[in-house]
Amino acid sequence: ETPLLSVTNLKRHYDVRLPGGLFGTPATLKAVDGISFEIMKGKTLGLVGESGCGKSTTAKLVLGHIPVTAGEIRFDGEKVTANHNAQWRALRRRMQMIYQDPLGALDRRLSVADQIGEPIQIHAPETPKAERDERVASLMADVGLRRDMADRFPHELSGGQRQRVVIARALSLKPDLLVGDEPVSALDVSIQAQVLNLLDDLRQSTGFTALFISHDLKVVRQMSDRVAVMYLGRIVESGAPEEVFRRPQHPYTQALVSAIPTIRRSAVANRIVLKGDPPNPVNAPSGCPFHTRCPSAIAQCKSEVPALLETAGHKVACHLVNNAPAGAGIAAE
Ligand code: SF4
Ligand code: MG
Repeated sequence: ETPLLSVTNLKRHYDVRLPGGLFGTPATLKAVDGISFEIMKGKTLGLVGESGCGKSTTAKLVLGHIPVTAGEIRFDGEKVTANHNAQWRALRRRMQMIYQDPLGALDRRLSVADQIGEPIQIHAPETPKAERDERVASLMADVGLRRDMADRFPHELSGGQRQRVVIARALSLKPDLLVGDEPVSALDVSIQAQVLNLLDDLRQSTGFTALFISHDLKVVRQMSDRVAVMYLGRIVESGAPEEVFRRPQHPYTQALVSAIPTIRRSAVANRIVLKGDPPNPVNAPSGCPFHTRCPSAIAQCKSEVPALLETAGHKVACHLVNNAPAGAGIAAE
């Protein structure tokens, strides 16, 4: 079976200048630095990591919003990395995005019904109005918006209602791929759960394929069939959510998981506190990008980049795990 989305050794580097010298010192910001993943049809990949780790850049690359520096993206088997604008336009219709801030994503001058119907009007102008209206009404029902909200405007809605409009709009063209970049982080915690449950239900009922990005492990855990943990532009661990969250192997994932009190009651006591903040992605550390904060770092970590290798049902990029005798791994407690 062909994956719907397949990304191979994808990179996005920026030339930047650091202060110093007359014109500054040239440096490279490796926002995304050689990541590979696949999403099979009907599945959801959750991308998790702290802000600045390259999650949003990955979304923009996949959607063709920014050019890639190196690597390859295939959509439904077709190489899209080198595509021209006209081809992108056709493909974009098959990929839709849900952003963090629903108000910013909506047009303040359009009513709820017009927002939801607009993509159909743009991409399928031949659709008769009656059919479009019917589709809008059914989308509103799908996302749990009452019929009488059709004539309201974004500023008259709550945050949760606005995000429902954004979701209905994103689904209006029956996209093959839905990309959600922190789609619930701007909402109140109580509303977050409702919108997540809605997305989870829609995922079951419509069978969409999704790339779901969040800094929140709980969110990713609920929404994903596979998860990938990012740190400084790289994927450091990936696998099924129960594997990655119950038996994290990478020291960074272990620290992230140890900070979630709900997974295990005693987590607070076992919490792994990392030293310092994530390093600046400009001139990121050599070798393993995590070595400056890793409690288990060994000499090799400073010079050699660990490859993302299959181990006990998931993939881990860590010298300690990958060099360990088969089945040993490093303790998660
Ligand atoms: Fe830590 Fe070394 Fe593993 Fe990186 S490779 S996570 S520094 S032990
Ligand atoms: Mg982001």
